[in-house]
Amino acid sequence: MNAELRSQSTAPANSLSGEDFGLLIDGQLVAGAATLNVINPATENIVAVCPRADLNQLNQAVAAAKSAFATWKSVPIQKRRQLVGKLADALESRMAEFARLLTQEQGKPLPAAMHEIGGAVAMIRAFAAMDLKPEVLRETDTARIVRQRSPLGVVAAITPWNFPVVLLMLKVPPALVAGNTVVVKPAPTTPLTTLRFGEICAEVLPRGVVNVIVDQNDLGGALTSHPDVAKVAFTGSTATGRKVMASVAPTLKHVTLELGGNDAAIVLDDVDPQEVAPKLFMGAMLNSGQICLAIKRAYVPDSMYDSICAELGKLAERAIVGNGLEEGTEFGPIQNKMQYEKVKGYLEDARRNGKIVAGGEVSKGRGYFVRPTIVRDIPDDAALVREEQFGPILPVLRYSNLDDAIARANDTEYGLGATVWSSNEQRAYEVASRIESGTVWVNKHLDLPPDIPFAGAKQSGLGIEMGQEGLEEFTQQRVINIAK
Ligand code: NAD
Repeated sequence: MNAELRSQSTAPANSLSGEDFGLLIDGQLVAGAATLNVINPATENIVAVCPRADLNQLNQAVAAAKSAFATWKSVPIQKRRQLVGKLADALESRMAEFARLLTQEQGKPLPAAMHEIGGAVAMIRAFAAMDLKPEVLRETDTARIVRQRSPLGVVAAITPWNFPVVLLMLKVPPALVAGNTVVVKPAPTTPLTTLRFGEICAEVLPRGVVNVIVDQNDLGGALTSHPDVAKVAFTGSTATGRKVMASVAPTLKHVTLELGGNDAAIVLDDVDPQEVAPKLFMGAMLNSGQICLAIKRAYVPDSMYDSICAELGKLAERAIVGNGLEEGTEFGPIQNKMQYEKVKGYLEDARRNGKIVAGGEVSKGRGYFVRPTIVRDIPDDAALVREEQFGPILPVLRYSNLDDAIARANDTEYGLGATVWSSNEQRAYEVASRIESGTVWVNKHLDLPPDIPFAGAKQSGLGIEMGQEGLEEFTQQRVINIAK
């Protein structure tokens, strides 16, 4: 069974009813103007019929957030932090339920879903522990200059479908701690865990402070261009990020954009291939490759090209792909049909332009499954190398000159993350220092402590999330300059 797609059969039949989910508008859980079906990508069955907002409900949500801002901004920050901490406690107490729902709507294996919810709890707590004290910037005989941080107003928080829960927590908790109110809009294919989080917000927070609406990819523009929205905190693709930036321009809103990536792994010629291959493999295949910071291209020196390709191929053959609710599943499906079709296109590209070492198979039955795939001998200008594949297909590229490998790694519009692998820390540090990315890991991957700021370079983003800077992004500075 190991090397097969074991998905096709088991459809958990516990479909939830439409009444089980409500939009959150002005403290009330309400029905949508319409509905949409949320599909389990492992079975293609309906997980739930979900409420869907229309423009009128979007306007109601923004109006509720605007009205709540008038009082929320004056709640002392210590109290706001305490309430945000309560969101973490409530989410933690429902972890198993959230994780199961996440697996059903997103597809990831249950342990990975538990890990995501645990990460979300930790992220909320990290922001609840942060403060925004006035800072004395200068104190002299003639002047005292103090910087305060005040909230912006209504924040639109827009999230993608790959990590719907944890990515929400890079936005909602800091927005609230800083004194803003929020309208959340999740991706239409993964709205359910966000609606459940809305229930927690309804229990813990004053009405209107957090509102949750769901759309079918049709209300994003109306939300980001809304004159009563002061800031847009967006995570998604670079293509949509460009649209968001255009739509906030007329009202000059603050904007944070966390966008796509095409992260390179640069393997130096001093590593042990057997040791590094499993790390590269997990870096590329975790969440079935649907991670903004996944390893999306690996540059490997001539001397170990064959051995690393072979090691990666063995790992791909052993991978257990299937329904995330089944015990032992390591890799779930592609999250939605549109992305599945896109990933199949990259497989075609790999077949045409390169050589598939292992993998390449897709579902024969139900579910959007693609087996982890390793591709070698593919040129740099192939679509699989140039574009963000966002699926479990890793192109392995050969290099004979390290300067050339660095130049090739940097030859992209993206600059989200990268990894360098070496047994010599100083050598790796020097290579890392030449990579045009917001984050570079050395001999590790995806270590994202909540207190360390995260930002994309080039067209991978604008602004910062996480850390104290990630909190301050939700504020406007007020400098008070006093004569003495
Ligand atoms: P997407 O851009 O298609 O959608 C993201 C969100 O934007 C969804 O909620 C969608 O409904 C909404 N949206 C669609 N059109 C909009 C518009 N015109 N205005 C405003 N919002 C609109 O992205 P996706 O396919 O859901 O997610 C995958 C992408 O997200 C990948 O490119 C991935 O790299 C990126 N991503 C980036 C990060 C990061 O932190 N940099 C993290 C995760 C994912």
